[in-house]
Amino acid sequence: KMTKIANPANTIDIIKKYDFNFQKKFGQNFLIDTHVLDKICAESGLKENDLAIEIGPGIGALTQYLANVAKAVVAIEIDKNLLPILDETLADYKNTSIINADFLKIDLENLIDECRQKYGEFENIRIVANLPYYITTPITMNVLESHTHIDSITVMIQKEVADRMQASPGTKDYGALSLAVQYYSNPYVVAFVPPNCFIPRPKVGSSVIRLDIYKDKPIKTVDENLMFQIIRAGFNQRRKTLVNSLANFEGLKLSKERIIHALSLLGKSEKIRGEALSLEEFAQLAEYLQE
Ligand code: SAM
Repeated sequence: KMTKIANPANTIDIIKKYDFNFQKKFGQNFLIDTHVLDKICAESGLKENDLAIEIGPGIGALTQYLANVAKAVVAIEIDKNLLPILDETLADYKNTSIINADFLKIDLENLIDECRQKYGEFENIRIVANLPYYITTPITMNVLESHTHIDSITVMIQKEVADRMQASPGTKDYGALSLAVQYYSNPYVVAFVPPNCFIPRPKVGSSVIRLDIYKDKPIKTVDENLMFQIIRAGFNQRRKTLVNSLANFEGLKLSKERIIHALSLLGKSEKIRGEALSLEEFAQLAEYLQE
């Protein structure tokens, strides 16, 4: 097999050879540290009967690691200038396909079906990627809300966003993103990665986070939409009480009396703020506030 490209010298060589220019607008920060790549691959839980879906392969550093472990890898890359480079760096990996597209516009279900036709059934389907940071949240929420059968997502993201995803009630990082991610999955940070592990170096620290997606959600809600509207409203103005935030929220049309009554059923004071409620309590509140 061709040598791994994931080190500073090989990365610089290939970038020079193809006269590649990094595009800021695509969030291009390539990994150059073999230990980090090993760690991402190991922590993702990827095995020989699995499909790996990678978002943004770049020059293929992580892709090579995934291809060595998985049954198949499908990688979606938006930047067409990277395609000739990937042709070279992935030439020896027959179980890998590259799709030139914007991941946010891809039909995930369809993509997985095509992989099944090509490679047969998979035991687990896992997303593993070093994400473009400008769209971390839309990518993650798109996958979670698509209700596609994905077993896990293991991604490098901004440390600050990872902290918000796994935050607990009452902490400063806790908010609508924590609740959305934790409704669909069990998130946990598996590594911290400093800027010097990338070319070019990002301005922020990074974390690798793994989200194990629930097959059966532990929290049930009668009305998902209403619950998420209440959550969004509840964190819209962090310094207000939940009663005021909800009563002032355009889309909801709830009177203060009704909200106070629902909170009392929950055993909560009318002075409580959104950040004090757990996911379970928001789900319960949505039920009490249902028409
Ligand atoms: N996986 C490589 C690595 O670890 O070295 C590159 C990671 S880099 C942080 C993010 C990659 O995502 C870039 O290659 C970028 O071109 C690509 N990208 C950016 N926006 C994208 C989108 N909407 N859809 C697919 N790929 C995208």
